[in-house]
Amino acid sequence: MMRPIQMVDTKTQYQKIKTEVDQAVLDVLGSSAFINGKPVQEFAANLSTYNGARHTIPCANGTDALQIAMMALGLQPGDEVITPSFTYIATTEVIALLRLTPVFVEVDARSFCMDPVALEKAITPRTKAIVPVHLYGHAAPMEEIMQIAARHQLYVIEDNAQAIGCDYTFSDGTKKKTGSIGHIGTTSFYPSKNLGAYGDGGAIFTNNDELAAQIKMIANHGQSRQYYHDVVGCNSRLDTIQAAILDIKLKHLDDYILARRAAADYYDAAFAGHPVITTPYRADYSRHVFHQYTLQLNPGNDPATFRDGLKAFLAEQGIPAMIYYPVPGHQQKMFAHFDVAAQEMPVTDWLTQRVISLPIHTELDEEQLRFISEKVQEYCNRQ
Ligand SMILES: *Cc1c(COP(=O)(O)O)cnc(C)c1O
Repeated sequence: MMRPIQMVDTKTQYQKIKTEVDQAVLDVLGSSAFINGKPVQEFAANLSTYNGARHTIPCANGTDALQIAMMALGLQPGDEVITPSFTYIATTEVIALLRLTPVFVEVDARSFCMDPVALEKAITPRTKAIVPVHLYGHAAPMEEIMQIAARHQLYVIEDNAQAIGCDYTFSDGTKKKTGSIGHIGTTSFYPSKNLGAYGDGGAIFTNNDELAAQIKMIANHGQSRQYYHDVVGCNSRLDTIQAAILDIKLKHLDDYILARRAAADYYDAAFAGHPVITTPYRADYSRHVFHQYTLQLNPGNDPATFRDGLKAFLAEQGIPAMIYYPVPGHQQKMFAHFDVAAQEMPVTDWLTQRVISLPIHTELDEEQLRFISEKVQEYCNRQ
């Protein structure tokens, strides 16, 4: 009998590394160093080696990572931060939380990532920072974004929550990992992320020593030395148990990425040439790590109804699917009082009506992939 299909299968993945993980957790329990234990620094050092950023500062989650990054840049209320509307709310929420002004730009309809032309048009004298998102595991066009940022003297914070391990190739052939290219990179270890903890976690990356010192200080109550607090900070830590687990999972990350890419290849082949289905684009510069496998459906008319119909049809077959994200940032109530609410974003709206993400994770087998592909086609062939 076929194993039940899930969006992510962290349980089967855990069973394969159970012995090692259980021992690491027991070791932390035995040490009682629940906060700032040795595994926290070990994991941070190993992650720096893996992704090539000089500094890795662990923190409590990916949303905190974004917030601390923006605080470290010294941005002031009213400063404009440019980011896509087509992203998870955490990216845009922290901008408003810090009383900065979110400025939303369109994404490229193929890659789902920030459109550099739209970015450059959105820059004003008040713009201070750009936050590209490597959505679904595909890199934003960082080379162009960094060039634009340099021309206008702006900071770049990469939201790498969905793309840890993604290789970016520059036009001269050099490769870097996403998250290590901008002035600051951030990531999340939420359990369903490609490098997922067994609880919450996040990290901040930078190659700049001064920014690293600032980030460390802010994440630790603005403390420069014990009980001396130089700036207003926050309290954001990765706990030792999570660090110990993540350090083990980091060793498997490249294999996990290969498994995700293999599942994506299977889907790509199954849907190739289908008139209604557009499979995920893979730009030459980006080695997609498939945090999500997201189709665009282009039926003759009423795409959202057709797409929601596929989701319901798949659910009847025991196949979960998700809409990431049903409401883009510029249409969220929380931003109703910003200029962005009145903005027209045709590409973002187009995608919002057409995207659907299929199950993708490290434990999908061929029987499951075949079943999912057949059911998607069965529905789409009716069109
Ligand atoms: C998951 C995610 C975050 C936030 O991470 P948390 O750890 O849940 O706070 C931020 N940005 C993007 C794009 C994400 O997918």
